[in-house]
Amino acid sequence: MTENACAPDAARHLMNIERRLPVTMVSGSGCRLKSSDGNDYLDLVAGIAVNLLGYSHPKLVKAICDQARALINVGDMVFNEPMLELAARLVGLTFPARVFFCHSGAEANEAAIKLTRKWGKEHKSGAFEIVSALGSFHGRTLATVTAGGKARNSDPFTPLPPGFVHVPFNDLEAVKRATSANSVGVMVEPILGSAGVVPAKPEFLRGLREWCDEMNLLLIFDEVQTGLGRTGQWFAFQAYGVQPDILTLAKGLGGGVPIGACLAAPRADTFTPGDHGSTLGGNPLACAAAVTLLNVVEAEGLLANAAEVGSYMRVQLQRLRPTEIRGMGLMIGIDLDRPVAAALQRACFDMGLLINIVGDRTVRFVPPLILTKQDVDTALTILEPALDRVRSGASYTSH
Ligand SMILES: *Cc1c(COP(=O)(O)O)cnc(C)c1O
Repeated sequence: MTENACAPDAARHLMNIERRLPVTMVSGSGCRLKSSDGNDYLDLVAGIAVNLLGYSHPKLVKAICDQARALINVGDMVFNEPMLELAARLVGLTFPARVFFCHSGAEANEAAIKLTRKWGKEHKSGAFEIVSALGSFHGRTLATVTAGGKARNSDPFTPLPPGFVHVPFNDLEAVKRATSANSVGVMVEPILGSAGVVPAKPEFLRGLREWCDEMNLLLIFDEVQTGLGRTGQWFAFQAYGVQPDILTLAKGLGGGVPIGACLAAPRADTFTPGDHGSTLGGNPLACAAAVTLLNVVEAEGLLANAAEVGSYMRVQLQRLRPTEIRGMGLMIGIDLDRPVAAALQRACFDMGLLINIVGDRTVRFVPPLILTKQDVDTALTILEPALDRVRSGASYTSH
């Protein structure tokens, strides 16, 4: 962990799970954060694709405060109004389905995996194997690191649960070859996020849908990162025109308040009482935040904004002369011509800009959906000189 003048006890009290920037944030407004040492940062990370409305959005703050006064939690033995309203809204925005609420992407995917295995028992004589993509990220629980396609995340924790096979992303033939009598489903991110923003080819997702129909498999889309307007549409599956059987959401859903959701079409909706649960899942506080998030995205035209500012940003980012720019809406990845991503992140940080890196030379931009073109221009006034500086080999090293 980086030594941090703002948090001298960090290394003593916090587990060493993340290389953090040496800063402690205390407040935020719009796309800007303020640190305990009084510095301002323009934020192109948004807690990694979470804070869709930026910071301190008045409507979100009010909804949370109002709900906290009324009812924070009531438990899963009874219903509550925000939970019912949110489930109806999500189904209205997606496809005929029912919803399970939890707190994170990993839990939403864990629910998807359990639904799929139970479906295999009931409809495919006990088939249990799920095909997923190399490079994918589905969370940090034991099952979801196994489903994910990154050995770094699962190797320290062997033995892993059986029942997962991996194939290269965007390779339909490999999915077909990996399908066996044990296969029960295919799980993919429509756009790989942690792997550097790699969009699925439209024919890959269409081909997966056809293959799943032909072979009687469930198709699971992990939209934890791509969902809720990030791509310029409510959900990436709509941008691609390919409907999954199970859809998972989290990250941006509560505008920063932890909440995850797993939606299953009737065909995949196998849970009965006792199969699954979550003590705090569907709590009124998180659900009220999420209902408000949906309302504000709609009222402020943030889908259109993500599409428009996203394409503007992709054009402006060409000024950095990346070797590749990928993405959709406000989910953008660029590859630099040399492995200076960590140095660039540090140089930007020193100049008041937060960016996220997902490799030696890959930068991922997942800013709040309220980002403006002016914010993009401001970001470029930092990114350009920062990259010049690290390209010319100034003394910035990976922190
Ligand atoms: C972040 C992410 C997850 C895990 O979400 P958590 O809330 O951290 O558990 C799963 N899938 C995708 C695609 C993600 O981006």
